[in-house]
Amino acid sequence: MKFSDIIYSKAENILKSRREQAEKLADMRRKEFIAKYPELIDIENTMKNAALDVIRSVGADGKRVNIYEVAKINLQAQEKRKELIKKAGYPEDYLEPPYTCKKCKDSGIVNGKLCECHLAVLQQLSVSELSCSPLLARSTFDSFDLKYYSDIKDRELGFSPRDIMRGCYEMLKAYAENFTCNSNSFFFTGATGLGKTHLALAVLNKVTQNGFSVYYSSAGSIVKKLEKERFGRADESVEDEIERSDLLIIDDLGAEFSTAFSQAAINELVNNAILSGKPMIIISNLSRAELEEKYGQRLTSRLNCFEIIQFVGEDIRQQLA
Ligand SMILES: [Zn+2]
Repeated sequence: MKFSDIIYSKAENILKSRREQAEKLADMRRKEFIAKYPELIDIENTMKNAALDVIRSVGADGKRVNIYEVAKINLQAQEKRKELIKKAGYPEDYLEPPYTCKKCKDSGIVNGKLCECHLAVLQQLSVSELSCSPLLARSTFDSFDLKYYSDIKDRELGFSPRDIMRGCYEMLKAYAENFTCNSNSFFFTGATGLGKTHLALAVLNKVTQNGFSVYYSSAGSIVKKLEKERFGRADESVEDEIERSDLLIIDDLGAEFSTAFSQAAINELVNNAILSGKPMIIISNLSRAELEEKYGQRLTSRLNCFEIIQFVGEDIRQQLA
């Protein structure tokens, strides 16, 4: 996935602040520790001198040192230091900066490459760059409220909308918590204002928290981006971004302006995702039959391998108004 310069610089700031916080904390702990156990300074000086002796021994004006002797002194000092920290009742790594990522010590680079933690921050930031970002922050499983769904039972079904939505909620929550790159795909259908986007974004939030990357976009803006790319005006490829993601969420399918290009583009996008085994959530206010009218049978037959979630109830936005 390519990221914009803004996202790179934001990610660097996050890593820098993690690093500084960890080092500041270590520094504070160290000062407190030395105040109580000043012998630490002597022990560490012995370690430092041993290391210096080794360096000097390989230098041109080399003073003769017995490397084995020096190594032994160093090891003994290390042991003493460990003992002292243990005796003081602290864990072994108490005086080391508690970096968020032990691999790269929050530098973001490991063996000259981007560390996984750096990539995770970049992905999280690119998700939060979504046009719907205030909505994204609000849309969690905790903030999903079943009280907006009627608890009056449907005579034929024997269930109320609230019962049905509770089931959907529980299933999607478990899905998000246990998400892997081999998870199922879903088709969310139902009228506007029934919480489809809320639950999809709740899945997104949980899945990204667990370290997966998600590509979320409305069908309309994907089509717009693909169109730009076709005419060579885009600086990053939507297809590459989607390919790099672990979960693809297409919102509001069917609301975009329909052209031969948009139909072909959406068909191809969904097909590629299915072929590569990528889990997807497709959200639409249209029913399957209506989608078929708009995109043809090719698309709806592909939805056969999706689990369909029918959202029910009364428009929540109207209830809030
Ligand atoms: Zn790292």
